[in-house]
Amino acid sequence: MKKTVSVLHNMNLIDMSAIDGEKIKKNKIVVLENGRIQSILDADKLDGLKQRGHATLDLGGNYLMPGLIDAHVHCMNPFTSLHDVAKFSNLIPTQKQIEKNLHSCIRAGVTTVRDLGSTPIIARFMGMIERGRIIGPRIVPSFSIISCPGGYPDMISSFSWLHRVILKGQLAERIIGREQAVNAVHSMLNKGAAWIKTVYQEQSYMFGHPKLNVLADDSYAAIVRTAHERKTKAALHCLSNVGYRKAIAWQFDTIEHIPLEDFSTEDVNMIAKSKTTIIPTLIAPVLYREDMLQTLECIITSTDFRLIPMAQKNVIEIIEQIKAGKQSDTLIDYHLLRQTFNAMTNNVRRLHEDGANIGFGTDAGGTDICLFGIPWLEMVLMAEAGMGSYEILETATRKNAEILDLEQDLGSIEQGKIADMVLVEGNPLEDLRNVGKVMKVWKAGRLLHETKPG
Ligand SMILES: [Zn+2]
Repeated sequence: MKKTVSVLHNMNLIDMSAIDGEKIKKNKIVVLENGRIQSILDADKLDGLKQRGHATLDLGGNYLMPGLIDAHVHCMNPFTSLHDVAKFSNLIPTQKQIEKNLHSCIRAGVTTVRDLGSTPIIARFMGMIERGRIIGPRIVPSFSIISCPGGYPDMISSFSWLHRVILKGQLAERIIGREQAVNAVHSMLNKGAAWIKTVYQEQSYMFGHPKLNVLADDSYAAIVRTAHERKTKAALHCLSNVGYRKAIAWQFDTIEHIPLEDFSTEDVNMIAKSKTTIIPTLIAPVLYREDMLQTLECIITSTDFRLIPMAQKNVIEIIEQIKAGKQSDTLIDYHLLRQTFNAMTNNVRRLHEDGANIGFGTDAGGTDICLFGIPWLEMVLMAEAGMGSYEILETATRKNAEILDLEQDLGSIEQGKIADMVLVEGNPLEDLRNVGKVMKVWKAGRLLHETKPG
């Protein structure tokens, strides 16, 4: 194979390497070869490399960071309203929206995602990305969520046989008992899942808060054990203190979301001492805040790449309903989320102060209005919870790479790693909103996105 070497120069380098030192490095050049970072050299080597005929690219003094890693998305959720996924007429639009979601990731500098709940059809899209037929991030999939009859996710009905054939399975496999739980883990891993996702939610957050079923305690313990025996990890969706305590005891590797009620001091200590990583996904509830709905409307109407027309119409309708103060059993109880957001932020603040492991995830696709492609907003919310800019970027790069066991290849701009990188305009350490000002995105050394000037 012919070697292709290219040299990037004139940038502020935020390499996110674990070695303490300057957070922003100037006068460096990044040499790429066959999709990896061959070396990082001092800028005075540039002329020599030019003379040897290597292609060079001037990055205009902008900020180069590792590609972002979003540890919590749902690539298949179509924003045609989650309730409607099971409608026959939405089968084709759903697949078109998946392509849009994947492309939105790249445009936002997200080069790797962990998908925590989509049907195994995601494997087909992973193949298309691999073959270069569509543009998207590398995906670490869990495929179907393991849940029980009458359990979360309660807003999505079970699919008919035809859907199961086309979408390759259910969004949630609903099982009963320890034996079926173990079988479900094996089944997902045999289909190629790299993580296992299950849920512990006792009460719905849809309007009216109906009670939900959860699996028996021994089933959760068996799920984690089976995943670990097969050298994979397990994630638990959980928003209650009771569930958090259990999840830590069951040794889940990550807990997704943050409780709506205040942690006790003992809870905070216990979580901070554990090996479990918390992925707060603050953005998911916050998008229901009045000021955020406006931001969201702006984003949707000013860009046409995120949503297929049918989905756009649907999302705008939902936003209009919420703005008009309407509530129905097809909507999340956004009043509840608005009342509890301070408690959620405060919980993240306390976990952070106590030294808990915190990762980065946006829950894109996790609610009707939680869009792909706005990772900077989660970062701004993490900052509101008291985390520093550099730390937040660490969660979205190096730390998440560690959580996903990809740190050998991803998470920093260092010699030998895969060349996943994003160039942004403006210093993200000064203002995390600058993470949204994406200029160029490389995945494995290939420039996949470039903002047109003007
Ligand atoms: Zn989710």
